[in-house]
Amino acid sequence: MSDLDVLVVGAGLAGLHTATLLARRGHDVLLVDRRPTLAGAIRTTGIFVRRTLDDFPLPEDCLGPPIRRVVLYPPGLRRPVTLVSGRDEYRVGDMAGLYTAAAHAAADAGVRIALGTRYTGRRADAFALYGPDGPVEVRARFVVGADGARSRVARDLRLDRNRHLLVGAEEVFAVPAGQGPPTFHCVLDPSLAPGYLAWVVNDGRHAHVGVAGYPDRFPGGLRQALHRFAASAPGLPGADRLGQVERRGGPIPVGGLLRRIGCSDGLLVGDAAGAVSPLTAGGLDPCLRLSAHAADVLDEALRTGRREAVRRYDGAALRARFRGRMTLRRGLAQVRTPAVAAAAFTLLRTPIGRAAARGVLFGDRSFPNP
Ligand SMILES: Cc1cc2nc3c(=O)[nH]c(=O)nc-3n(C[C@H](O)[C@H](O)[C@H](O)COP(=O)(O)OP(=O)(O)OC[C@H]3O[C@@H](n4cnc5c(N)ncnc54)[C@H](O)[C@@H]3O)c2cc1C
Repeated sequence: MSDLDVLVVGAGLAGLHTATLLARRGHDVLLVDRRPTLAGAIRTTGIFVRRTLDDFPLPEDCLGPPIRRVVLYPPGLRRPVTLVSGRDEYRVGDMAGLYTAAAHAAADAGVRIALGTRYTGRRADAFALYGPDGPVEVRARFVVGADGARSRVARDLRLDRNRHLLVGAEEVFAVPAGQGPPTFHCVLDPSLAPGYLAWVVNDGRHAHVGVAGYPDRFPGGLRQALHRFAASAPGLPGADRLGQVERRGGPIPVGGLLRRIGCSDGLLVGDAAGAVSPLTAGGLDPCLRLSAHAADVLDEALRTGRREAVRRYDGAALRARFRGRMTLRRGLAQVRTPAVAAAAFTLLRTPIGRAAARGVLFGDRSFPNP
């Protein structure tokens, strides 16, 4: 194991995709994750947008029914705004199934996968791992930090790090079928979700009930906000959580793509690179697109032996295309009281407001193609 082309740290969607693309081009790749199983400790709701579904071949049996209907609620949930698209806009992934399928694809491509294996740091020309059999060191020509929003690899490579983070938490449980059309319910209430939204995604198979916001602004903490929201959340007729309830959660970087995401020793992908829409907090489409770019750049560097090829992996250039969304993020962060949120709904109910909301929710601009 000691001399590799690429060590990929983190087997979320970003790490799995990057590792697979590199192995398919003949490179020797080791993918490590501290999770003992990829079907556990899931952090994401798993809503995939249409653009991802169009461009990436995700296994059909791991996707829930299409969602076309979004309902936006002010605090108090009265007079919501309903938007219906003429196209299938979202599908919720069975993330355990998707990670497992992606791991099989990676292994088929030749990636060696070590689960239950934590990256613990860099030592001179080697990388330190701690696996089920204790510590081990590996040498790799490049390391890829796909290790999430609080990336240790970013720190060790002295690359940029996420400073602007939301935290989110949700409950997931099965729901009875036939309770109405699959719907994405979003509640704009800063007392529940300060700086972001509370949500219910009910696709007729599962419901995801969650809140996210700035960690220091939840009046009684994140858990209490989720508890309060779950008690009165919209869109759950007859769904009284009789079955098992899965809990998910984690940090969400919303400061926009980081500027320095690559150097001659390696690079960052996914949340580690801040590749999340600052406005919608969607990171699944960005992590797939940025991973494809990362694999192209590393492939060139490995084939030609020119480490400088990594210079092409420039976060600053891509970040410029996030300006509009970062301005809207700052706007959403300013919604600090239920009164301001209610006032925003006055605008949202006008034709211009509805058109703007449709643009954000049903637009095709998840992440710029690098
Ligand atoms: C509550 C919540 C809901 C969300 N919902 C959506 C949504 O519906 N749609 C959407 O598009 N986006 C959503 N996001 C964002 C999206 O989930 C992320 O942007 C995306 O999953 C990032 O993938 P990733 O592979 O970069 O990171 P991750 O999926 O976080 O993977 C990082 C991996 O690195 C591993 N790791 C970390 N440190 C180490 C280490 N030292 N050694 C070894 N392994 C390590 C972790 O175990 C983990 O498996 C949500 C986020 C949250 C928190």
